[in-house]
Amino acid sequence: MAGFWQNFSKLGLGDLEDADLYEEAKVEQKKSETIKEEDFLLDKVVRCPVCDQDSTQKIMKTGKAKLISTDRDLRPKYEHVDFSKYEVYQCACCGYAALAKDFQKLSLKQITMIQEGICSKVVLKRYDDPIYSYEQAVERHQLALACAMVKRARVSEKAYICLKSAWLMRGYAESLEGQGKTAKVKEIRDAERDYLEKAYHGFTKALTEEGFPMCGMNEPTIDYLLAAVALEINQIDDAKRLVSKIMQSTQTNPRAKEKARELKEEILKAEKA
Ligand SMILES: [Zn+2]
Repeated sequence: MAGFWQNFSKLGLGDLEDADLYEEAKVEQKKSETIKEEDFLLDKVVRCPVCDQDSTQKIMKTGKAKLISTDRDLRPKYEHVDFSKYEVYQCACCGYAALAKDFQKLSLKQITMIQEGICSKVVLKRYDDPIYSYEQAVERHQLALACAMVKRARVSEKAYICLKSAWLMRGYAESLEGQGKTAKVKEIRDAERDYLEKAYHGFTKALTEEGFPMCGMNEPTIDYLLAAVALEINQIDDAKRLVSKIMQSTQTNPRAKEKARELKEEILKAEKA
């Protein structure tokens, strides 16, 4: 029998008479939303300085992805999306490609060089995925490097593309880890190392020919980057020399000195290993 406490019908609330007084609120089963890489991307229409056509570039939304960490050689790592895949713009019509920051910077002479050396020969694959796969991103970086060679870009620009290509390869290898693809991972890691060596030699050469800022970096940052890359490619003596230069420089701020000190410890560890 219903107790007095349940006598709600006189109040016009009869539907509560059979209700459980202490029923737990039902937690609505939320559909588990899968976080996808494309959620962090947006399309940007860019006019090509070579063929004057518009094409869509996928870029990362500003401030949406969470930065997890930064590798020793300054490669940023974000949650859910590899930033390195989205650093190159490539014209879908003529094949001209460059790092986003350099895409519009072409002289008339360089446009002709790209038309003759790239556009008239390149065979472009068609991709329609909502994200850039690693295969596609690698192709875009290769095209950017080819264009930099053809347009006789500054040494630092070519070195920077090599550094970004090395970071891309690292992300590619990480994406395959634990899948038993040992031979493929080794091939990618070898390519990463090769790009790092090219980046190291390029930036070292650029230091003798170009001023600062270099690729948007000041001298202490370039010195730190070179020291870190030197360590990656096992050029221990160079790494030590560069890190000492940073620590002795009056231009270096305390935070950068602290980073250099940490790097020095890793260099000494690598030396003993
Ligand atoms: Zn174009």
